[in-house]
Amino acid sequence: MSTTSEDLNVMAQRAETRRKALAVLLDAVDGDRLLAAALARLDVSDMGGVLDRAGLDAARAEAEADAANYAALAETQRRAEAAGVIRAHRCVCGHSGINHAYRLTEDERLPCSLAECRCGDLDFAPVRP
Ligand SMILES: [Zn+2]
Ligand SMILES: [Zn+2]
Repeated sequence: MSTTSEDLNVMAQRAETRRKALAVLLDAVDGDRLLAAALARLDVSDMGGVLDRAGLDAARAEAEADAANYAALAETQRRAEAAGVIRAHRCVCGHSGINHAYRLTEDERLPCSLAECRCGDLDFAPVRP
C-alpha cells in the first residue's frame, strides 16, 4: 500500500497544527519562568495523550498515586532492610509487609490493608531461629 497525496496532506496538516501549538507554548515559556521550569521537569513520554485540562488532571492524579505508592514501598523496604528481612516478611499482626505497602499515612505509618486487621503500623516480626 503506497502513501497517497491525501495521506501526505493529512501529515502536513498535523505537523502544522503541532508547530502552531509549540509556537504558542514557546511564547508562554519565554514569559514565564515557573512554567518553563515545570515543563522542563515533565517527561511527556510518560504521558499518553494530549495536554488539555483533562489530560493534565489525569497525569497529575497518576503522579500523585505513583508518589504515594513509591513512598509506601520505600518505607516498607527501609523497614525490611533495618530488620534484616524481605518485604514479604510477616508483620507482628501476622500479615505480610506487602499488605502494608499500599499506603503511607501523613505521620509515616504503614497500616495493614486487610479489612479485618486493626494493625496501625508495620512492625516486622523477629525472624525465629
Ligand atoms: Zn501489621
Ligand atoms: Zn494485618
